[in-house]
Amino acid sequence: MKLADRYAKALSWLDEQFPIAETELSYGNPYELLVAVILSAQCTDKRVNMVTPAIFKKYPTPEKLAAGTFDDVFALIRSISYPNNKSKHLIGMAELLMEKFKGEVPLTVEELVQLPGVGRKTANVITSVIDQQPNMAVDTHVFRVSKRIGLVSTKATTPLAVEKQLIQHIPRHLVHKAHHWLILHGRYLCTARNPKCAACGLQDTCKFYQAAAKKATAKKTASQKPTPQRNATKKAAVKKATLPRASAQKAVSKKSRPKNNSNKG
Ligand code: SF4
Repeated sequence: MKLADRYAKALSWLDEQFPIAETELSYGNPYELLVAVILSAQCTDKRVNMVTPAIFKKYPTPEKLAAGTFDDVFALIRSISYPNNKSKHLIGMAELLMEKFKGEVPLTVEELVQLPGVGRKTANVITSVIDQQPNMAVDTHVFRVSKRIGLVSTKATTPLAVEKQLIQHIPRHLVHKAHHWLILHGRYLCTARNPKCAACGLQDTCKFYQAAAKKATAKKTASQKPTPQRNATKKAAVKKATLPRASAQKAVSKKSRPKNNSNKG
């Protein structure tokens, strides 16, 4: 299958599956989304959504968060991963927003990555979700799913390499949606362990599935192929099955012999 066809089929199916392509993080404005995305590193959206209402209530603006103390922020996010670093990042991010960006979340990747706790992936999420810019954030789901389906080459071993290949082939106007499609597919169907291939409509498109199917067929064929050991077992079974009839014939001929002998006498 040509790469262009693979992209077309995969994107069309994902579009059908996930007509509502949006983040599962709860937020009301760009500042809240930025806080939520910083907290979501190595943590589930579900858990982040459990702690953000209290943060947004106590620190509704970057100004309030910049004035917050480490201990107070830490107390609110202690149940999520890396609360120590994330508390520092949230306060540092809010301080820089106030100092350099007049309290507004900038909407370019170059500016966003200057903020503490904001890397390329987070900057891509903010710009694509808020501004629908054609930026692809590559998280663990996007990385795994795009490789399994065969949208990117096996040589793409870093998130940046995967991002570049996806951007090159996905139509610009679909990139911000494709990001969510790949995440949702990876979260619910094409899971890291035991992907639910039986329920997936990408079987004829997916390289991972086709390789696994080919392997299973080869294994089945090999198990049915005659081997010297299997031949010997088969011959023994045939011999055993024919033995009673042969013995019976022998018995009959033995029985008839004395009769013939008596006639002669
Ligand atoms: S067929 Fe399986 S491995 Fe391929 S995309 Fe679907 S769920 Fe993932």
